[in-house]
Amino acid sequence: MRNLLIVISGPSGVGKGTIVERLLSRGNYSLSVSCTTRAPREGETEGKSYFFISKKKFLEMIDEGGFLEFSNHFESYYGTPKAFVEKQLEERDVILEIDVDGGLQVKRSHPEALLIMILPPDRETLRSRLAGRGTEKPETIEKRLARADYEIEKSRLYDYTVINGELNAAVTEIENIIKREKE
Ligand code: 5GP
Repeated sequence: MRNLLIVISGPSGVGKGTIVERLLSRGNYSLSVSCTTRAPREGETEGKSYFFISKKKFLEMIDEGGFLEFSNHFESYYGTPKAFVEKQLEERDVILEIDVDGGLQVKRSHPEALLIMILPPDRETLRSRLAGRGTEKPETIEKRLARADYEIEKSRLYDYTVINGELNAAVTEIENIIKREKE
């Protein structure tokens, strides 16, 4: 059976982090750790949540071709380190939790990648989940909602969309998609 490059995207606040955690605890996947130039949030760990690097270092890595994909939004850069992903893919399926621009870049360089978009049941659910996090300022929430509209619009270019209404149901749906794709 071939190993799959699985891209999981979705608006922030949709619960993709929790979905990915569940997938990792239930199956044998490797999770790619991205590089970012944004500051760590409370509770985030270097090398686990992200590799937090300077903009200078990020730009150097772009020049060296060190990213499988990268994008720039919310005034920060985010990118997937290429070497790590390619090495891990030799062993098992790899999950990338990245934004829609990155996902579509991956599809161009790796057409066999599986692109899954997680969507909220509706926009109000997303707004209340973002507000409930308590980590973002109101302006940031508005920016993230505007970005969500963009991601939702682009979801038609993804292979699958999964609605995160009930967590376990969403995780099982994704596992079934992966199982089918591997057959
Ligand atoms: P956050 O700042 O909330 O951790 O992430 C903001 C957005 O960046 C999320 O949509 C997240 O999926 C995306 N993201 C995280 N890592 C990467 C990456 O390596 N590449 C791309 N393109 N997006 C990423």
